[in-house]
Amino acid sequence: MGSYAVIGLGRFGASVATTLVSLGHEVLGLDKSEKKVHELADVLTHAAAADAKDEEVLKTFGVRNFDAVVVAIGQDVEANILTTVMLSDMGVKNIIAKAKTELHGKVLERVGATRIVFPEKDMGVKVANSISSERILDYIELSDHHSIVEFLAPNKFIGKTLGKLNLRAKYGISILAIRKEDDIVVAPGAEDLIEENDLLVVLGDNKAIDKSTR
Ligand code: ATP
Repeated sequence: MGSYAVIGLGRFGASVATTLVSLGHEVLGLDKSEKKVHELADVLTHAAAADAKDEEVLKTFGVRNFDAVVVAIGQDVEANILTTVMLSDMGVKNIIAKAKTELHGKVLERVGATRIVFPEKDMGVKVANSISSERILDYIELSDHHSIVEFLAPNKFIGKTLGKLNLRAKYGISILAIRKEDDIVVAPGAEDLIEENDLLVVLGDNKAIDKSTR
């Protein structure tokens, strides 16, 4: 079980905090709004109303002792950055901060955030990909050009083994896993067969993946 603190319980922070709880972790939620704290008080391990811009507040809650702290303050960019600076100065090892723009992300990185997330941008990429190809179910961006994508096996793959399909040579993509109805084949080999309704987890160049799904 891990222990996490989430600062800012708006839509994003609340979703992070409640998901961590449902995964079995201990979660402290902090928000300056009493209302937000009240809404989540029964769900989170601890929830308190406090202003994270106050260094004493962060010390009182012992933020240094958590496995990771998520800075999910949104509109108030100053509070978002100041909180990240203070967490970094206090020696918090894992600081995940939410950014609104690329520039904001760069500042957060400079002041000590260990991971920056862009929820709106990331969700936009996911939605665009799932619209562009109805077969794509999930998507992780590794770089500007490479991704891991989960998609429904196209008809042209069905009834063939990976050896026969030779996807690495043909498209430059690698199949990391095949999800069957109630089974998963991890690191499949040449003899593994693609069947109807299989979900493929594939790593490769975005354009190559897109071509292979059609
Ligand atoms: P979301 O999209 O996640 O709903 P948002 O990006 O619109 O949120 P805000 O609503 O501005 O962001 O901030 C998220 C939460 O952070 C709010 O509930 C707000 O009360 C809280 N918050 C803002 N500043 C502070 C602060 N200094 N200390 C603690 N909580 C704060």
